[in-house]
Amino acid sequence: KDYSGNQYQLFSDDIGERSIEQIKLENDLFKALQHGGEFELYYQPKFDVRSDDLVGIETLIRWNHPEFGLLSPARFIPLAEETGLITALGEWVIKESCRQMKEWYDKGCTDLVVSANLSPQQFQQSDLAAKVAGILEKTGLPPQLLELELTENLIVNNTDQTLKTIRELKDLGVQISIDDFGTGYSSLGYLKDFPVDTLKIDKSFIDDMTTNANNAAIIKTIITLADSLNLNVIAEGVESREQADLLARHGCYWIQGYLYSRPLPVRPFEERYVPSHSK
Ligand code: C2E
Ligand code: CA
Ligand code: CA
Ligand code: CA
Repeated sequence: KDYSGNQYQLFSDDIGERSIEQIKLENDLFKALQHGGEFELYYQPKFDVRSDDLVGIETLIRWNHPEFGLLSPARFIPLAEETGLITALGEWVIKESCRQMKEWYDKGCTDLVVSANLSPQQFQQSDLAAKVAGILEKTGLPPQLLELELTENLIVNNTDQTLKTIRELKDLGVQISIDDFGTGYSSLGYLKDFPVDTLKIDKSFIDDMTTNANNAAIIKTIITLADSLNLNVIAEGVESREQADLLARHGCYWIQGYLYSRPLPVRPFEERYVPSHSK
């Protein structure tokens, strides 16, 4: 009976374009969220190029799938979005980011900011700020040490609820960063209405900035914009010294990328970056 059920499912019109692997992954995602233990955060440091000081940490999710091994977010975040499972998954990410950061805070990392990525659907929950407030209270992490990374298109698309949620998060003391900045479709007008703290220049501009004059010009413009709006600016996907030097020359001092470090699992990250751990 089970078997015929599966047959029906596989050939039903409702399945549309979805592949068998996707359907399996969807089921597995649901189970993994119920049971826990298969998701893991990787930690990528952010540095100030002037001092080589660690200034922050971005958390990036991985899924240790029992059959497929370590899956990158590109494999399952879109699926989690489509199925609505992203709400639960995203909440786990914020919780785990805050819990881990509080542990490192207690070990002396008292001015490191932890950044978690937020998906568009997650942001549309009207009780998001209340959930974040609950997590901060439970973990004891000072709110100003949590940053949420939002993509530009999310901010532009649904103005009213978005603005309300961002204000509520800001009222908690949480920081807001605009991820993949420069890749959105809209005008920049929204920047004056939204209380954001940081612009993160997308990797696509960084990749060929040393050879492509247009991208170098866009980067310069973003840095000037951030400066005139009194926002922080950081570059992601920095892989070469040449890129880092050019960014610094234009006034972008915070960088994140393979030049300094890949995202690391918790233990190697601690060994390298959390002082009391290297003893
Ligand atoms: P993102 O937020 O733009 O994250 C940056 C991605 O670039 C990460 O890939 C990171 O590992 C990679 N990266 C960092 N530095 C370099 C570099 O120098 N060179 C290259 N080639 N890549 C670099 P990752 O971890 O595979 O994440 C991909 C995307 O998945 C993220 O893009 C983000 O949009 C999403 N994502 C990751 N974790 C989460 C999460 O917890 N929640 C949500 N909603 N989305 C997440
Ligand atoms: Ca990000
Ligand atoms: Ca990004
Ligand atoms: Ca990106």
